[in-house]
Amino acid sequence: LRVPPRVRPLTCTETRRGDQQVVHSLGDGTIHVSAARHEATFGFSAVFDAGTSQEAVFEGSGMRQLVELAIDGFSCTVFAFGQTGSGKTYTLMGPLTQSKTQVAAPGLLGLMQRSFSCLLEQSRSCGSDLAFSASYLEIYNEQVRDLLSPGPPCALPLRWSKTRGFYVENQLNVDFESVEAITELLLQVSSLAGSQRRRTSAHALNRHSSRSHALLTIHICSRA
Ligand code: ADP
Ligand code: MG
Repeated sequence: LRVPPRVRPLTCTETRRGDQQVVHSLGDGTIHVSAARHEATFGFSAVFDAGTSQEAVFEGSGMRQLVELAIDGFSCTVFAFGQTGSGKTYTLMGPLTQSKTQVAAPGLLGLMQRSFSCLLEQSRSCGSDLAFSASYLEIYNEQVRDLLSPGPPCALPLRWSKTRGFYVENQLNVDFESVEAITELLLQVSSLAGSQRRRTSAHALNRHSSRSHALLTIHICSRA
C-alpha cells in the first residue's frame, strides 16, 4: 500500500483572494503544514509538490508496477482521496475540457489515460493475448448507477455471493481494444458538454465538483 500525497498549486481564485500556501513538500517524502497556531510534519513514501507534472506523478506513484501486476493477474486499485477541490479529478483525468471533442494537451493527461496506454503497450510487448473491458459506476446518495448504460440512469442493486463476493447486478461491461476507444468512452461520461452523465452540483470550492464517488474498473482477461 502506497500513499503519495499531491499538493496542488493555488487556483486563480485562491491567489486573487490572497490565500497562502500552507502545505509544503520538504523534498524527502515529508510534508510540512504551517497554518495559524498549527505546525506539523508528516512522512510518506513519496510526496508530489505543486510543481510536479502529471507524468512525474504517474512515474513516482508506482502506477507502472500496478499495471504490470494487473497483467500478471493481481487485483489492483488506485484510490484518489481528498476534499472537494483538492485535485482528484485533475490527477486522475487531467483538466476537464469544455466539449466532448476537445482533448487535453498530452502532457496534462491524467493517471487514467496514462495507465491505459501503459496497459496496452505492455500487453502488446509481452505478446500475450489479452482482452480488455471496462465498467464505470457512480455511487451517489447511497445509490449505485451505471455510467455507461444508455438511457436514463437507474439504480442497480448491490449483491453478494459466495463465488463472486460483492458485485453490482446488471452492470454493463464494454469491450475495448485501443486507448482511443476507452478514452472516448470516458469522455462521453465526464466531459462538461451536454451529455455529461455524472451527478455534479455547484460547490463554493469547485464549480464542477462531482458530489459523488466514481468507480472505473478495467477487466483484463487472458485468452490463453
Ligand atoms: P476534486 O476532483 O478533488 O474536487 P479538481 O481536480 O476538480 O478537484 O481540482 C480543483 C481545481 O484545481 C480544478 O480547477 C483543477 O483544474 C485545479 N487543479 C487541481 N490540481 C491541479 C494541479 N496539479 N495543477 C494545476 N491545477 C490543478
Ligand atoms: Mg472531482
